[in-house]
Parts: sequence; structure tokens; C-alpha cells
Amino acid sequence: MRVFLETYGCQMNFADSEVVASILQTAGHSVVTEIGDADVVLINTCAIRDNAEQRIRHRVRELRAMQARNPRLRIGILGCMAERLQSQLMAEEDNVSLVVGPDAYRRLPELLQRIGAVTHSSVSQAAVDSTRSSTFGSPNLGEQPEMLPASDTASDRGSHSSPKLGEVARRAGGVCPKPAPAGGVCQTPALAAVELSTTETYADIEPVRLASNGISAYISIMRGCQNYCAYCVVPYTRGRERSRDPETILREARTLYSQGYKEVTLLGQNVNSYRHADVGFPQLMEAVAGIAPDLRVRFATSHPKDLSDDLLRVMAAHPNICRCIHLPVQSGSDRILKLMNRHYDSAWYLGRIDAIRRYLPDCSITTDVIVGFCSETEEEFQATLDLFRRVRYDYAYMFKYSLRPDTYAARHLADDIPDAVKGRRLEELIALQGQIALENNRLEVGRDYEVLVEGESHRSKERLFGRNSQNKVIVFDRRDARPGEYRRVRVTDCTAATLLGDLIP
Ligand code: SAM
Ligand code: SF4
Repeated sequence: MRVFLETYGCQMNFADSEVVASILQTAGHSVVTEIGDADVVLINTCAIRDNAEQRIRHRVRELRAMQARNPRLRIGILGCMAERLQSQLMAEEDNVSLVVGPDAYRRLPELLQRIGAVTHSSVSQAAVDSTRSSTFGSPNLGEQPEMLPASDTASDRGSHSSPKLGEVARRAGGVCPKPAPAGGVCQTPALAAVELSTTETYADIEPVRLASNGISAYISIMRGCQNYCAYCVVPYTRGRERSRDPETILREARTLYSQGYKEVTLLGQNVNSYRHADVGFPQLMEAVAGIAPDLRVRFATSHPKDLSDDLLRVMAAHPNICRCIHLPVQSGSDRILKLMNRHYDSAWYLGRIDAIRRYLPDCSITTDVIVGFCSETEEEFQATLDLFRRVRYDYAYMFKYSLRPDTYAARHLADDIPDAVKGRRLEELIALQGQIALENNRLEVGRDYEVLVEGESHRSKERLFGRNSQNKVIVFDRRDARPGEYRRVRVTDCTAATLLGDLIP
């Protein structure tokens, strides 16, 4: 089959789509770059906030028009939204034929074959097959299977024990045929595979670098998360944390380097808790940085509770580990941080910022923050503004709190900040951060940086852009520079988002 992959959400989703492409190609399917050439559109989804899900719902409905023109076109939903909604998605979006969670991608070839082969008259046969193989494939298919352990006690939050994933896996472990609507005529036979795993890391799969610039690539080093931040759906959609064998990570990084890549970004929800046997994250970073001095190494994301001095020492000892740490703070208020179950307070967080500045004086620091979390007062929001003034981030991803069903916050806390107040706080924070970023960038004018050239500037073919170690984008006149090269650039001007510079001959 010809498959078109459409990806939404975080870097991990983009890395997952590259694994999916590899699984499909190995099975003889082809990945096409034009949606009009596809037999199947697979949408890799994000469930982190409601607006992300709404956008994807909208897209799925939009694709109906294409299906009307090409009735053989199938649509599959992959990733976090597939895991969160499972059969509810199939019930509500009747043009969807496949729902596949993040740990079930190895089953895609078999599932594609089944949706490709199934005709209206053979649907009931598929249903029989799958109910035999699954406890999830119950005849009562209109119901959403219970996805999460339904514990209502305060002690379940913040517990780092498994969310009874074995149970989830057993319930959700099979291939679930979509029910025929009342009347018995099944128009879009659908299958779901949403089992979560405690071991799957796709370590043996060499990702197909989709839309690659041939210069930088992602490497997933771990999957899942069990931090259970009160607002966050990830532990429920991606399962327990597990780390990939370091040898396979090193092999992937060496292969990329031998293919000409100059930068790898190691990805995980909380990379600082990477552990495989006796290898922790600092040792892994050291090994990857040791592959070649001209291979830049980045990583994301660090949880402040786990950012160790050991890692900062390794970074300081290796100039090719990039001087940029993404350290999500989420809130400047200690009461809100506790409610969020973040396991640190603002003093601990600021202590980690001081440590970064001590070991790595030229390190850029970026963050994620949520405004309008349950019961956040004006004073508590002011504490977030104060923390931003103190840390002076180079960049921040700023969000309004979005209630996610089944999380601790959804079950125990009221989403009681009116949307207009959340919006006003967000605007205030964005304005402050914009001002800080501009002031930080003005300090860069006159400095020289080594820039990894990535490509043409969007605005002019005569200009190229690249990034410095701090991950700041620098735009400069092309002259004799080429993508993939390291070039020295002097910063001459800036906006809040971009540095402008001149090549140093
Ligand atoms: N694992 C990373 C961490 O803990 O920092 C990032 C995970 S998440 C994919 C990225 C960001 O989305 C979070 O840092 C948080 O700021 C934001 N986020 C997560 N859940 C949210 C929610 N329910 N509402 C608003 N923002 C949310
Ligand atoms: Fe979500 Fe917290 Fe895990 Fe990040 S650390 S993925 S915010 S639960």
C-alpha cells in the first residue's frame, strides 16, 4: 500500500513517525510524499491539550472530502490520541479504519493488510478472528474500554508505581473490530491495537529520516513517563518509562554521522532519568559526544527534579554537547508546583538554574510553563512572572491549562480559572517573555558564534540560516557558505526571535 504519514505534536511524535515509516517500508509498503498518491493516510496524533485533539478531529473530518472522491482511501489514527480515546474514536469518526497506540506500531503491516483486504462482506469474519484473540474485542464495541486504573484515592497521584499497565494491556491488548452500526451494514471496517508495553523501545528499528535536511536528526532514547504531573496525559498515553539499550543508541548515532549528519538530539520525556543497567544519562551523553568532535549533541527534555551536577560536568567537558538546556518550570508558585506534583519548589528550581550558570556560563535556558492551573490566584501568577524576570529565559513555550480527562487534576481539582483570565495571564506572560528574549538577543550583538548551517532563509534565497550551540537561529548572507558546514558568524542585529549576522571570512 502507499502510505501518507501526517504528524502532529512533539519531537517524539516526529521521531515515532520515522519508526513507523521504517516498519512499513520493511514490510513492502511505500511511504509517499503527496497525500493524493496515498491508499492510506496515517495521522500521528497528540493528546497533550484539548486544542491539539480538536485540530486533529477537524483534519479527520476534512479528509472525508478526499474519501468521497476516492472511496478506497483509508484513514488511520496513531499515537497519543489513539491511545487515549481508543474505540471512542472509531465510534465518533466513522471514516477512520485504524486506531493504533504508540507501543503497537510493529503491528501496522498486519493491520494494514487486514483493512486493505477486508471488504464489507468479510467484516464479520474479521470480528470473529479478533474476538478470539482479544479480551478487548468484546461484542460490546460501542463502549470505550476503561483505559486507566480508576483509583480515586489521593495516594494514587504521585505514586511512581506502575499504573497497572498489565491490566490496561490485557484489556486493550487485541485487535478490536469496529462495530457495525445499527442495521448491520458496516461501512468502514475498523481495527484498533492499543496495547501498552513495559518493554517496547523499537531499539532495533532504523528510522527512515522523513523530510530530513540530512544535517540534524532525532534519536529516541527512551519511551513513556511515570512522573504523573497532575495535569498531564502522557503517562496514560505512552505508558511506563523504559530506556533503550545504549549500544543501539550509539549505533544509530554513528550511522547518522557516517551518513553526513552533524547534529543529533536525544529524546525522552525525562531524559535525566535514562537508565539501562549501569548506564545513566551522563554516561550516555559522554559516549555519544565521544563519537566525533564535530557531531553536535542536544537533548530534550530535562525534568528539574532530576537534572544532576554529573550531567552538567559532562556537558562542560564536551564542547560538542550544545549549550542549551530546556528546563520546564510549569509555575513560579510553590503551592501550584505541589498541586501539579512536580516534586520541586521554586527554590530548588532556581538552585538548578544557578548550577547550570556555574558549570556552563554560556548556556541558554528555555522552559515550558502553564498559566491558569486549577485555583491559581493572581499572586501565584505574579510568582510565575517574577520567576521569569529572575531566570530570563531565551525562549519559553507558554500554555493555558487544558483539562485532560482521567488525569489527577481532572479527577480531583476544579478547572476553575475562567478562560478569559487564563487568556489574559497568557498574554501578559508572552509580552514579558518577548521583552526578555529581545533584551537577551541585544546582548548577543557583536559576539561571534560557530553556526551549523541548515538551509536557506525563508525570506530570501540570498541568505542562509543556522543555529549556534545555544540553539539560537542566526540568519546571514550566503556568500560561499553551504548547508551542513560549520561557519563562524558575527551577530550584527536581532529581533526577539532571530539573530542576524555576517559570515567571518
Ligand atoms: N516531559 C516534559 C516535561 O515534563 O517537561 C514535557 C512534556 S509535554 C509534551 C510538554 C509541555 O506541555 C509540558 O511541559 C507542559 O508545559 C505542557 N502541558 C502538558 N499538559 C498540559 C495541559 N494539560 N495543559 C496545558 N499544558 C500542558
Ligand atoms: Fe507529563 Fe510530567 Fe511526564 Fe513531562 S514529566 S511527560 S509533564 S507527566
